[in-house]
This record gives sequence, C-alpha cells and structure tokens, in this order.
Amino acid sequence: MSDLLFSLPPVSTVAVVGSEARYPVNRIFCVGRNYADHAKEMGVEVDREAPFYFLKHAGAIVPSGATIPYPPGTSNFHYEMEFVVAIGAPAWHAPVETAMDAVFGYACGLDMTRRDLQLEARAKQRPWDFGKNFEKSAVIGPILAKAAFGAIGPQRITLAVNGTTRQDAHLTDLIWSVEELVSHLSRHYHLVPGDLIYTGTPAGVGPVVAGDTITGAVEGLAEISLAIGEPEPT
Ligand code: MN
Repeated sequence: MSDLLFSLPPVSTVAVVGSEARYPVNRIFCVGRNYADHAKEMGVEVDREAPFYFLKHAGAIVPSGATIPYPPGTSNFHYEMEFVVAIGAPAWHAPVETAMDAVFGYACGLDMTRRDLQLEARAKQRPWDFGKNFEKSAVIGPILAKAAFGAIGPQRITLAVNGTTRQDAHLTDLIWSVEELVSHLSRHYHLVPGDLIYTGTPAGVGPVVAGDTITGAVEGLAEISLAIGEPEPT
C-alpha cells in the first residue's frame, strides 16, 4: 500500500562487471574543465583555484549500447568522453589521503551536451542546465570495481565518431585527481553510495548528427558506445 498520488519512474541503475546486482544511481556530479587542452578549446583559462561542477538528474542515465534520439532544442549536439567515478561509501569532509575509501569503482561515460544552449547560458551568465541536464544526456558503461581497475595512472582515454578518433588523452592529464575531487565534493555535499562523478573531458569535443555512432574507451574498462537516432516526432 502506498500513500503516493502516483508512482515515479524507476531508479536508474548501472551494470557492474562480474555481478548480478546493479548499481543504483543517486546524483550525477560533473566536473567542468578538468583537462587543460579542453579548457583551451572552450576559450577559457584553467585555474587551480577550485574545481567547479554541474549536476545531472539520475533519470538522465542511459546505458552503453543505446540509441538515443537527437535531442530537442539544439543544433549543436556534442559528445564528451569522461572517466566516471562511482561512490560506494559515505564521505563527509574526507581528507585527500583517505578519499579513495569512498570509491566503489569506475566506468566509461559520455557527458552529452547541447553545446549551443550551454554556450548561450555561459555568455549570459545563466545556469548550464538546459545545455547539460536533459533527458538521456548521461551515458555510462558497466562499472568495474576499484581494486580490479588498479591505480589511476597513465591509462588512455579515447573517443571515436564513426571509427575516427576525436579525443585521445591520458588520465594523468586530469587537472583535479579523483581523490582531490572526492575530497572537495565531500566538503560541500554528504557523498553517499550511488553518487557518480563525471570527471571532465579531454580536448577534441565536437558535434554528432543522426546516424552517427560514438565509441569510447578508457584502458582497463569496458568500452562505451552510443548511436544517435533521428529526433523524436513532435
Ligand atoms: Mn563534461
């Protein structure tokens, strides 16, 4: 028996490598400008003052392998390949030294972006939500446990559109490391299991159109893929 007026969409979940159980998603934190070359291509200076974030709602999750419709309201739909951190234990004011204790594992992610709406918002000093936080904008592959992945180091992070490489960097290029991000976020939020952190994208972002297929990889993780379909009929 429920006293709710209606039921909400089911909780978004992510596959976990080697497990029947799935990872339920709570919040999605996304880091802005965490690779110097990407900040440069976006026409902004990198600063080491503090990382900044935007959020996507958990319902934005799409599994790797999906086809999504070209989204409404944009004519400049971009891919951003990202290394995703999945939180597995609570963290509150976690020091950098122990921040990794809160990490469950890692996955490949795509921070799909309505770039025209994001840049318009940026120019007008408005929030980025319309550019970033929309339906089916947070693509994610299966999560691999932290221990199985091993230490974060010079793993390559790459993305291709229709087989042509567009992004190619290494996790050592991250301006803010995973432990720094977890520690910093934990001073502003009570991090809990189910929180995901999309850690930012390297240089080489660009548009996709209906009919395109995106594939992405981080060395050691399952590949991610996404196909872009026609816009939904209105
Ligand atoms: Mn991003």
